[in-house]
Amino acid sequence: MKKCALITGASGGIGSEIALRLAKDGFEIAACYNSDENGIKELENKLLQTGVRFKTYKADVSDFNTIKNVFADATDFFGGVSVLVNNAGIAQQKLFTDITQEDFDRITAVNFKGVFNCCQCAVPFMVSKKNGKIINISSMWGVYGASCETVYSATKAAVIGLTKALARELAPSNIQVNCVAPGAIDTKMNNNLSEADKADFAQEIPMGRFGTAAEIAGVVSFLAGKDSDYVTAQVITADGGLT
Ligand code: NAP
Repeated sequence: MKKCALITGASGGIGSEIALRLAKDGFEIAACYNSDENGIKELENKLLQTGVRFKTYKADVSDFNTIKNVFADATDFFGGVSVLVNNAGIAQQKLFTDITQEDFDRITAVNFKGVFNCCQCAVPFMVSKKNGKIINISSMWGVYGASCETVYSATKAAVIGLTKALARELAPSNIQVNCVAPGAIDTKMNNNLSEADKADFAQEIPMGRFGTAAEIAGVVSFLAGKDSDYVTAQVITADGGLT
């Protein structure tokens, strides 16, 4: 029987490439999104061409009951979720002193509580099977810290902390929990940068360019597959050598 991979943020740049790559790797796909109907339609069209069974879910990761329902449906439809990719995220650039309480609550709810919510819903099935992979998409800024992205960086650091702790708790159940920390990746998350800003930033990256979403999907593919069975509690940074 084929295994199911659930990917959050599958309507976005990195998430859609992860969903496609895992479909090509042979997983059935539960693709979650929040609001981007066009983005998820585009992914659906591409997934149709792979021939794998898939289902899409509109779900805000910060809402525990919604996520619980998604996992209940995915258990009925696919027989359970074997690979969870926590990829949904939001960013914000603001001076520290301009950040509002609402900004803090929203970014924390999506980037950190969202990961917690999905892990809590995914773990019971994985433990019952003594098998599973959880892959959390953090950021190089979670390791390094970004000026004017304090809350974003802090939530991404929190995701690394959760990953390392949960990995140790779940290791006896043969569940691997790892993080990917991407550098600057060419997606709509960086649309706030002008082409000139992007070119300047690219010059600071030893590899001289932004990464692609497909390159992050490749790292996720390794962490979702058998070749990483002895890899857990790790942060794999993919940032072209920047940090
Ligand atoms: P993106 O294209 O903006 O995609 C973000 C995704 O997150 C979208 O699918 C969005 O869904 C989803 N999302 C946002 N709020 C949500 C919520 N409340 N509930 C459920 N889903 C929600 O950005 P991306 O570059 O692909 O980013 C993917 C991940 O990589 C993020 O965690 C980001 O922090 C991380 N990352 C990105 C970069 C980069 O340079 N691009 C670097 C390091 C780390 P809708 O569009 O449907 O609302």
